[in-house]
Amino acid sequence: MNELSHWINGKHVKGTSGRFADVFNPATGEVQARVPLASKAELDAAVAAAAAAQPKWGATNPQRRARVMMEFVRLLNRDMDKLAEALSREHGKTIPDAKGDVQRGLEVIEYCIGAPQMLKGEFTDSAGPGIDMYSMRQPLGVAAGITPFNFPAMIPMWKMGPALSSGNAFILKPSERDPSVPLMLGELLKEAGLPDGILQVVNGDKEAVDAILDNPTVAAIGFVGSTPIAQYIYGRGCTNGKRVQCFGGAKNHMIIMPDADMDQAADALIGAGYGAAGERCMAISVAVPVGDATADALIERLIPRIEKLKVGPYTAGNDVDYGPLVTHAAMERVKGLIGSGVEQGATLVTDGRDFKLQGYENGFFVGPTLFDHVTRDMEIYKQEIFGPVLSTVRAKDYEEALAYAMDHEYGNGTAIFTRDGDTARDFAARINIGMIGINVPIPVPLAYHTFGGWKKSGFGDLNQHGPDAFRFYTRTKTVTARWPSGIREGAALNFKPME
Ligand code: NAD
Repeated sequence: MNELSHWINGKHVKGTSGRFADVFNPATGEVQARVPLASKAELDAAVAAAAAAQPKWGATNPQRRARVMMEFVRLLNRDMDKLAEALSREHGKTIPDAKGDVQRGLEVIEYCIGAPQMLKGEFTDSAGPGIDMYSMRQPLGVAAGITPFNFPAMIPMWKMGPALSSGNAFILKPSERDPSVPLMLGELLKEAGLPDGILQVVNGDKEAVDAILDNPTVAAIGFVGSTPIAQYIYGRGCTNGKRVQCFGGAKNHMIIMPDADMDQAADALIGAGYGAAGERCMAISVAVPVGDATADALIERLIPRIEKLKVGPYTAGNDVDYGPLVTHAAMERVKGLIGSGVEQGATLVTDGRDFKLQGYENGFFVGPTLFDHVTRDMEIYKQEIFGPVLSTVRAKDYEEALAYAMDHEYGNGTAIFTRDGDTARDFAARINIGMIGINVPIPVPLAYHTFGGWKKSGFGDLNQHGPDAFRFYTRTKTVTARWPSGIREGAALNFKPME
């Protein structure tokens, strides 16, 4: 059995807690490795070593730190195939999708090459007589990231890129489901010139997470995962005085107006609903056609496209559209939710529960599933399913469609398909959701914009990557300086405005 490690002080280190989690090959159902689950003592030791290494890194000039990012980009491109293979083997997504996962992380690292520009402070010359005032952005010290299974390359890089290039040391606690790629990122950063101890990859579960939350040296936590855990981490982390941002689950609606290009909308729904087996926080899981004629036209186009979808292992290369779910438990949960949809009266148009693939009978596969006539009170509408299941909710008009998206507790992403500029503009202005697509089904902002949901999809006040990330991983210090020529007037006891 392949035993994975932690990455501490620039080396692979065996776990000492005696606790492990199984890492599966989701396509075959086999256990392919076991990952150590860190104890509180192991986590605390990794934080202490990071804190000892950080001051030198924080004092390294930002351009030198940026050069490490530059080299990291080169190495990520060099090892793209290797990273994608390791990622698909543990996650189950297709190789092109795994490369997208690495690429979207890499783009944030490219953005971080501009850290010297992002970290420049502000300066006011002659704020008063002989007085200059300046603000600088300083690293926080040791920051931590707790990340989900569904993007094991991209999300760790969204966190570590801005944190490291801002001069922090960083503790990454990746998902225990697919920990190999985060460990490989540690190796590549060392090769790129990152000093030992500045990035620690500590594998673990709740015990390691709680140790992060309670460690007084950890100044900030960036979390991505499901909403209940996001809320828990936000609450406990803030109570312990840390800076915390947590991104949670989603239920993304796509409104299809009667004037939309129906073939384009159907293609978009297939990609956004079933790509990566629906295990994306920006997946579209609810289609909201406006009017029965639109709904009928849409369903009529979706069925043949669904029938053509190829579900299989990533080793089938280009011959597969999406792979298995990440664990047996995830598969059973999704099948259970499909059952509840049937029981609660939704129309099951295509049923993926009995999907079987010869040679992969123990894989965690669910076939593409489509529901029609879904209503607000059903579990399949209320819960994030995180599987290849698309629910159709019929709206009588635009206002009702808008209300569906606005009233849902999640607010990560949404989209509208229409040819009407007025409707699209009204939608973008009024909707209470963080990321909006207009004829774009998965509107994931690029590295130089920011990514974040509203409502129960995001906790905290700054987004991920883009300029917000540099604000999150630094704090502002403001200096007011007066030189001897300006202090001959005697003591000033009152708090007065600058003259
Ligand atoms: P998860 O919440 O189960 O796990 C996320 C992280 O939290 C992991 O590192 C895990 O080890 C840790 N964790 C799990 N249970 C814990 C507990 N009880 N106490 C402390 N820590 C715990 O999420 P997941 O299944 O890995 O990822 C899927 C979820 O992530 C979905 O809900 C998806 O929508 C969400 N997600 C959100 C975004 C976003 O940007 N909003 C992006 C990707 C994924």
